[in-house]
Amino acid sequence: HNKPPDDPLAALLDRVRIRLRDLTEGEPASYIPELSRADPDLFGLSLCALDGQVYSCGDSEVPFTVQSVSKPFVFALALADQGLEDVLARVGAEPSGEGFSSIRLEPGTGRPPNPMVNAGAIVTSSLVAGANPDERSARILAGLGAFAGRDLTVDDAVFASERATGDRNRALAYLMHNAGSLTGDVEEQLAVYFRQCSVLVTCDDLAVMHATLAGGGTNPLTGERVVASHHAQHVLAVMATCGMYDASGQWMLRVGLPAKSGVSGGIGVALPGQFGIGVFSPPLDEKGNSVRAIAACHLLSEQFGLHLMRAT
Ligand code: GLN
Repeated sequence: HNKPPDDPLAALLDRVRIRLRDLTEGEPASYIPELSRADPDLFGLSLCALDGQVYSCGDSEVPFTVQSVSKPFVFALALADQGLEDVLARVGAEPSGEGFSSIRLEPGTGRPPNPMVNAGAIVTSSLVAGANPDERSARILAGLGAFAGRDLTVDDAVFASERATGDRNRALAYLMHNAGSLTGDVEEQLAVYFRQCSVLVTCDDLAVMHATLAGGGTNPLTGERVVASHHAQHVLAVMATCGMYDASGQWMLRVGLPAKSGVSGGIGVALPGQFGIGVFSPPLDEKGNSVRAIAACHLLSEQFGLHLMRAT
């Protein structure tokens, strides 16, 4: 799959990949063995246009666990199931200025700051419809698949490791349960969240998932309406302010597009009304964002003038 692509747009992505593949800073996530064993040379780039065409290069079909890139999509499902006001009653929409496992909760309400940090994501996955945690997990897996345009599966080894090592998430969940922002059985809610993080996707999937948001909630491959367009808009707005954790301000300044990163090395980006991008490369910077994926998005945004605040 490393032969030069013949399509001009894929060739352009491939030039970005070749220019950045020798960037060797950062380390793959090390908190569980499955992620620390990731090949640091893996690097894929994909773009899905709203006509459903996918352009990709490098390791764009290698499966990895979606991790925090699941958060905007599960937020979207929670919005579809509960509506904006009821979701906002339980989780805020303010950037935290802190890392993804921040323990800050809003005084008084106990709400986590936003759905893109772990605490907020644990709450949003508990708000997805389902009579019990298994049904919620099933709806999340099917929903992520609807965004990706294909059936997805869970990496059970990663799920088991997440669950075995997830004490900080566990602590967050108990704090929120105590504060009233997370209801129900805490261990069961955590299992739903850990399973959501362990869903396997590819770089191509990330491009399609973000193209679905960019297209107002309709999947460009399957034509399926996954969420209402106003909910896709809400998700992109929160991604723009909170998607890159405590690097969100710098990201908006320099790249200027709604995006979400995850500890397995994926970053998904959406240009509303235009396309979705997926980038995958496991080595992370100190904030837990993929080094090569960040560099690739900087380059693409600059070269093609994609910044949303650009006047012309
Ligand atoms: N599973 C990871 C966690 O909950 C996801 C975090 C991330 O991707 N930033 O800690």
